[in-house]
Amino acid sequence: MQRIDDLLRSGTTLSFEFFPPKTDEGHAAFTAAFDDLAELRPNFASVTYGALGSTRSQTEALVNELNAQHTFPTMPHLTCIGHTRQELAELITSYRDAGVKNILALAGDPPADGTDAGDFVYADELIALIREIGDFCVGVAAFPELHPRSPSREEDRRRLAAKLELADFGMTQFFFDVDHYARLVEELGELGCDVPLIPGVMPFVSVPGTRRMAAMNGSSIPDDLNARMESVASDPDATRALGIDVAVDLSAALLEQGVPGLHLYTMNRAASVREVTDRLGLRAPA
Ligand code: FAD
Repeated sequence: MQRIDDLLRSGTTLSFEFFPPKTDEGHAAFTAAFDDLAELRPNFASVTYGALGSTRSQTEALVNELNAQHTFPTMPHLTCIGHTRQELAELITSYRDAGVKNILALAGDPPADGTDAGDFVYADELIALIREIGDFCVGVAAFPELHPRSPSREEDRRRLAAKLELADFGMTQFFFDVDHYARLVEELGELGCDVPLIPGVMPFVSVPGTRRMAAMNGSSIPDDLNARMESVASDPDATRALGIDVAVDLSAALLEQGVPGLHLYTMNRAASVREVTDRLGLRAPA
């Protein structure tokens, strides 16, 4: 199986993110979307991990199934909050034994009710455990507009730079203004950190859903985009078309800056992502 750090060294990557479906209907939609986007020959795909391990077995089963079916690697996301060290070690060992080479190491979010959050609090502790267990390529999360729990910009960047130095690459939360990404790279550079940072781009399909996710993740919606969103909010086709336009413009600006890769959030739907890659003329090499 290919490692993502090797792929990043050999050119600009194209990757797609999926989530584990919860129902049989969702599973059929997931499979159709994945198979459709697999035709674009992405360099890799990733599958998210439900909050506090709620999709623990589904994520693992899907990742193993996809890795058996496709020539490009699918990377599991893994969050540590809410798990014991033992639970995490078992899952990482199981990935290693299944031949998985890439893991996205995340802290996750603490339980809202303040119950016991498990043995680990931060992503860097999970990275250390992954390194103990196997020779994985490890990715980590980055927030161009700061992580919502960071007390200051300076501390956010300092901790992110330290985490990236323990990892092999970073992958960002979605954002709508290319300057946020440029500023992040510049600030990390000032701290001596030049670990590749893959921007995450979301071709949105719902206005309320995007606003909710943006508020949760600390991603700002520029005023002009907010006004354009307002004007299409009640029309699903116009919303989808706007989501594609915004994703195309942002991706083109990012590619012009020489980003190491482009990670598209698919939300388990192929149509918008296909249109974005078509309009950008992106086809991973055969
Ligand atoms: P960390 O890197 O641990 O940082 C969290 C906060 O703690 C930051 O403010 C940081 O500055 C601070 N911090 C870090 N280390 C220390 C320390 N030693 N002492 C004090 N403060 C510290 N969530 C899911 O549940 N499932 C997913 O599949 C998932 N996939 C994601 C994919 C991407 C690309 C991104 C960007 C996010 C994803 N998330 C996912 C969300 C993520 O789990 C949450 O944002 C979570 O709140 C933080 O995770 P992290 O790995 O960034 O945390």
